[in-house]
Amino acid sequence: MGKVVAAVFTTHVPRLMILDQNARVRYMGRNVTTFYDAMPKLERERLQLSAILVTHHHPDHVGGVSELVGRFRVPVYGPAGETIPECTVSVAGGGQVHLEDLGLDFEVFDIPGHTSGHVAYCGHGALFCGDTLFSAGCGRLFEGTPEQMQRSLRTLRELPPETRVYCGHEYTVNNLRFALAVEPDNGTTREYLETAKDLRSKGRPTLPSNMALEIAVNPFLRWDEPTVQKSAERKAGRSLDNPVEVFATIRQWKDGFS
Ligand SMILES: [Zn+2]
Repeated sequence: MGKVVAAVFTTHVPRLMILDQNARVRYMGRNVTTFYDAMPKLERERLQLSAILVTHHHPDHVGGVSELVGRFRVPVYGPAGETIPECTVSVAGGGQVHLEDLGLDFEVFDIPGHTSGHVAYCGHGALFCGDTLFSAGCGRLFEGTPEQMQRSLRTLRELPPETRVYCGHEYTVNNLRFALAVEPDNGTTREYLETAKDLRSKGRPTLPSNMALEIAVNPFLRWDEPTVQKSAERKAGRSLDNPVEVFATIRQWKDGFS
């Protein structure tokens, strides 16, 4: 058996994420988009899976795990607050994941909002945040409240600015279009949109992003910026008293934005 890899996180584009010993993500090929596609790729590249880390229970983030663990007898880490039958190790905020084969350690954060038990894994300068934070956007509130989601995003915003952000979906270009609707004069957002469009036109991912860039462009991390507050107040047609109201207004605005 070949090189050991671990920590498979589903994502649509830029595909399944597989970590190597340096906590760098290897992209497994154009057609690997879910756990279902992982097996032939792992076998072709002679990679030995040593663990699976799950962020939340949505089908596009757990589908295929049972097939993988049938072939590789590996631990499946997943949120204690959600029912995921394949998970063998429950994790929760404040906990740690130690991947012995790879010599990697990750801190676990509770980041509810998109789902009620959603977790993130963070370590070695990399954040795996599932569908909570996207580049220039954030996940929809399927199970949680705006209060929960804003608190979760506040937790992520406090990470070091150089933290690489590996989110669950490649929605960057559309998210940036919305970000510009919120902040039309944000030059960094404008530049990033051009870069992102260029990358996507070449079939390349925009991810990982980094926290410094997200803090500069992501309207869902910028509830305390006067430009974002004013924009949200215009949308709401009233003054907004606190960060949660600003966040909730922007989130609702995005739900109807096309
Ligand atoms: Zn999801």
